[in-house]
Amino acid sequence: MALEHPITIALSKGRIFKDSVPLLRHAGIEPLDDPESSRKLILDTNHPNVRLLIIRATDVPTYVQWGAADLGVAGKDVLLEHGGEGLYEPLDLRIARCRMMVAGPKGWQPRGGRLRIATKYVNSARAYYAGLGQQVDIIKLYGSMELAPLVGLADLIVDLVESGNTLRANGLEPLGEAIMEISSRLIVNRAAWKTKHPTVMHIIERLREVVDEESQR
Ligand code: ATP
Ligand code: MG
Repeated sequence: MALEHPITIALSKGRIFKDSVPLLRHAGIEPLDDPESSRKLILDTNHPNVRLLIIRATDVPTYVQWGAADLGVAGKDVLLEHGGEGLYEPLDLRIARCRMMVAGPKGWQPRGGRLRIATKYVNSARAYYAGLGQQVDIIKLYGSMELAPLVGLADLIVDLVESGNTLRANGLEPLGEAIMEISSRLIVNRAAWKTKHPTVMHIIERLREVVDEESQR
């Protein structure tokens, strides 16, 4: 009764999968395989009506937007770049937490002129500098942003920071306050929200319970 409609949930392996498993368990959903050891992209669960899609983090909103998945787990960073079209975002799961920050070479000082900013998070970086009223050139990268200031591709980077160890290992440091706090969100396809409403609500409510419990610890 509780999970009466077939449900497909999209998530990425790595930290999001690991942190989602205990939350999904509370909703009665247990994957039958581990994506770190299995090569399967579709994982069955203990529940015959529920399956998981294992995809790239940046592709999660796309699968949910187009209805290939009903639900998904995606970082706020990824959602801001995607734009959120066709999606509801009913719940902050408070997992995979980090900060979006500006970083640069240790001791870096502005020297006038237009800054070049390398980042994977073009929309967020553009909005941040627009909010400061500062004209910058944004250079889109797909990974290893730390390299850009070291070889003169950019002055600064906008990247996600957890401990700061990756920055420090490359002679960089965060500059100033965080642009924003990042965590992963449950996203829902808008059509599934209507057509599978009782099942979707059941899952959301069970997840909300465990997220609230965790946040009170
Ligand atoms: P890929 O590593 O496959 O290129 P990705 O970096 O988007 O893609 P993950 O590293 O699994 O994928 O990150 C998934 C999500 O976890 C990110 O979208 C972000 O919200 C969050 N995240 C990324 N880096 C960190 C971090 N250092 N600490 C905590 N959360 C992070
Ligand atoms: Mg990564």
